[in-house]
Amino acid sequence: MKTQPVRVRFAPSPTGPLHIGGVRTALYNFLFARKHGGTMILRIEDTDQNRFVPGAEDYIVKSLAWCGLDFDESPEKGGPDAPYRQSERSEIYRDHIHRLIEKGHAYYAFDTEEELSTLRETSKVSGGHSFQYDQQTRKSLCNSISLPEAEWKRRLEEGAPFVVRIKIPENEQVVVHDLIRGEVVVSTSNLDDKVLFKSDGLPTYHLANVVDDYLMKISHVIRGEEWLPSAPLHVLLYRFFGWESQMPQFAHLPLILKPDGNGKLSKRDGDRLGFPVFPTAWKDPKTDEIYSGYRESGYLPEAVINILAHLGWNPGTEQELFSTAELIQQFSLERVGKHGAKFDPEKAKWFNHQYIQQKSDEDLALFLKPSLDKNGVSPSSDYLRKVIHLVKERAFLVPDLWANSWFFFLRPGQYDQQVYQKIWQAGTTLLITEIANEIKLLEDFNKDSFHTLVQNYTIRTGVKMGQVMNPLRLLTVGSNQGPGMMDMADVLGKDEFLARIATGLEQLR
Ligand code: GLU
Repeated sequence: MKTQPVRVRFAPSPTGPLHIGGVRTALYNFLFARKHGGTMILRIEDTDQNRFVPGAEDYIVKSLAWCGLDFDESPEKGGPDAPYRQSERSEIYRDHIHRLIEKGHAYYAFDTEEELSTLRETSKVSGGHSFQYDQQTRKSLCNSISLPEAEWKRRLEEGAPFVVRIKIPENEQVVVHDLIRGEVVVSTSNLDDKVLFKSDGLPTYHLANVVDDYLMKISHVIRGEEWLPSAPLHVLLYRFFGWESQMPQFAHLPLILKPDGNGKLSKRDGDRLGFPVFPTAWKDPKTDEIYSGYRESGYLPEAVINILAHLGWNPGTEQELFSTAELIQQFSLERVGKHGAKFDPEKAKWFNHQYIQQKSDEDLALFLKPSLDKNGVSPSSDYLRKVIHLVKERAFLVPDLWANSWFFFLRPGQYDQQVYQKIWQAGTTLLITEIANEIKLLEDFNKDSFHTLVQNYTIRTGVKMGQVMNPLRLLTVGSNQGPGMMDMADVLGKDEFLARIATGLEQLR
């Protein structure tokens, strides 16, 4: 049997920034396509003019590129099924909606928005079934099924505003085969006659999505669970068009839940709970409100990919850290769960920490560049490498690298008074002056010789190690922070170390 080539699409609507749930959908499509040597398509679903947000498409493209997810066919790249922006394909949908009308699977409806909302209100007040435009109600509403032919044709000729609705068949069971959920059966009596084509001459999501999936020869529709209720409608559309044999396979991904498991992770949760839910920062063009992003918060793209890979999929082994190549090799839809996956912000940080540790010291040093430039310092690459090596273990987010290392590049501007009060004793100034004098005489100053020097001093004088080290740290860093004192002194070098001791003693006098 000839197998159909794998062609998948990520089909965002440019209605705002891409939530990490959307990035995960893109990722799973990407992994699936790459694993099967298939094609990954970006299709922009921008037929809802009311929800269009300027800059959103550009944001989507750039933030996915930051995550390392690339496309084979897209609005930018083009491809055999271009255009890939639905607003540029209106002729195609117009042609297809006429086919459905001719076959009797769709009809014109002239009811105004006011009339429909009155009906909705009335049904609410009467406490009965909430109003739906469906097989029960359509006969008594204003459409090309209820009106005499001459009448609805006259309305069309006169240019009366209309929409086109699907005519849901009566008494049928629609079966959706889902690769994750198995068989989902829905009775047509529960489906409403959704609008397929709007008065503005553009299709709705349902029509455009199905027509494009067919024309773009999509083999697998991998998307979020929120689209599962629409899938029966899509199955019907495939049937009505006569495309059943080319219907893609469906895979609806589980929701990403809030950390406490109570409901879907929303775009507001992140800033409320202190973690990003967008890949890169987003400024709302209407309100100028800024939403934080993973990139700006100091996550590495490889960590973000790993965090998302584990939200819904599991490898079936203990392995937690994957390279993209490993993810591609191991990913399968069979191992995607049905149940919502809780987002764990602490685990996300842990992943990032792990990926920071995997990076070379040279690569990590690049992250310090902006701060170094801002402060007008330009250390040698060898010095930078040594510093990074000492501090990277403490870095969970990229900004931690600078927070834990700035004092290797800048002298302390002030000295923590609380620490000073706590550790500075009557003999401390004298003791430190003696140690400094001994260091001055050391010919070969390094971690080991410095250690021996302090050790000998403590044996000789009976003071404790901490009585020497704590003041030295305060003088070097300005607080009680920083990596091991010996390492720090070693990297700073004898001259700088002594200079800091002298300045510090001066200032603290
Ligand atoms: N445009 C839809 C969205 O914004 C696409 C859903 C689908 O993949 O079918 O998520």
